[in-house]
Amino acid sequence: MESISSRIAKVSPSLTLAVTAQAKAMIAKGEEVYALAGGEPEVDTPQFIKDAAIAALLEGKTKYTPAGGIPELRAALSKKFKDDNNLDYAANQICVTGGAKMACYNAILAVIEEGDEVIIPSPFWVSYPEMVRLAGGVPVIVETKESTGWKMTPEQFEEAMTPATKMVIINTPGNPTGAIYTAAELLALGEIALGEDIVILSDEIYEKLVYGDHKHVSIASLSQELYDLTITVNGFSKAYSMTGWRLGYTAAPKPLAEAIEKIQNHTTSNANSFSQYGALAALEGDQSFIEDLRGEYDVKRQFMYGRLKAINNIRVVEPQGAFYFFVYTGNTGLKSMNLCDKLLSRYKVAAVPGIAFGYDEGIRLSYCTTLDILNEGLTRFEQFCREH
Ligand code: PMP
Repeated sequence: MESISSRIAKVSPSLTLAVTAQAKAMIAKGEEVYALAGGEPEVDTPQFIKDAAIAALLEGKTKYTPAGGIPELRAALSKKFKDDNNLDYAANQICVTGGAKMACYNAILAVIEEGDEVIIPSPFWVSYPEMVRLAGGVPVIVETKESTGWKMTPEQFEEAMTPATKMVIINTPGNPTGAIYTAAELLALGEIALGEDIVILSDEIYEKLVYGDHKHVSIASLSQELYDLTITVNGFSKAYSMTGWRLGYTAAPKPLAEAIEKIQNHTTSNANSFSQYGALAALEGDQSFIEDLRGEYDVKRQFMYGRLKAINNIRVVEPQGAFYFFVYTGNTGLKSMNLCDKLLSRYKVAAVPGIAFGYDEGIRLSYCTTLDILNEGLTRFEQFCREH
């Protein structure tokens, strides 16, 4: 249609949301579906967080807030960065946004000009390339391998760089692979970015979901130079099971932080007022919810790893964080869309096609569901693999 801008015409719909919607429609029709496609914790938001938001509503905290967020929340986030990530961000360097998705988009919009290239390791979180296109930039995809744990190597980074490279996106722990970059790996990538003044967008939304001996490291904490080039993104969706509240945040050096706040000012104005009071309670309250959630996911992760490893014609790398497995399905000979279609329509298992993450020879299975659903879903997936 002619009236649609060329910028939007270039953008693909979100395939992860599409699969979830199809599965939900089947469930609504009364069909049994084993949903391993989800991207959110299956448990409800903790009650004390809800109570704080309800209290805020009752107290009339229902008006616009400052664009960057309520001062109390920005101050609490400043403390969180110091305590959790060894990062010094003043409250006015932090911008509270409508979800980490908005945080990523604001960050990209603040930096990218028409034609600028953004390096994105694949498999990537589905929205990064589309956000870059929306901003007029050009996504440059670097395909990572199982052999490097689905992580971009410094050599790959260097090879993908051109004079037009303006930004690199690092997502650790990563969606859809669960890969975590070590401090040494981040330093090696950071060194290259520093050489060419490439802005680093560090998406750390899964930081609390790390397993075994693995540790989450914020690249901005590794040196002053890296701090000066990094926009750190995080949010409340995953750690506090608050996906519907739409709350994320950016933290950046002052000039970038001001640019991000300007965008927010003229687009969404501010994140939802009473959600922000819920988020404040989340940060200040009892954090044991997170440890419980992490513990449950670790059990599911190990269970699923055992089951997937035993299936012949697929391969998996043990994920170190987040709540996903990225399964190599190239040996089935099926493209990922076709595979997921069959898996859903005939075996009633919802998975996300790897093509959504820029990698067509794999699918994403998530374990943010109950053990029962996981068990039955995996039994059916196993059967699918035997028959293909
Ligand atoms: N970054 C990554 C890597 C994600 O997986 C997601 C959610 N799927 C987001 C950002 C967006 O999170 P939010 O719901 O807070 O917008």
